[in-house]
Amino acid sequence: MTVISCDACKKHIPGARKDVNYVTILDKDICMPCSEKLLETTKRHAAAHAPFAFRDYQATLQRDLAKMCGR
Ligand SMILES: [Zn+2]
Repeated sequence: MTVISCDACKKHIPGARKDVNYVTILDKDICMPCSEKLLETTKRHAAAHAPFAFRDYQATLQRDLAKMCGR
């Protein structure tokens, strides 16, 4: 069994199942609480900078993700 740990909070995800209790965003494994936080942050940013192109959304998501992963 593969042990997955969240790239943002570094916690192990017991019984990790993709799209069930963790998701892969870009090349990072992210637990559900962290992915919700990430999407929330990105959405708030998008709302503040409307109209927001999908390309920009991706860039923002990537930046917020990197920030959460401590890089
Ligand atoms: Zn996490």
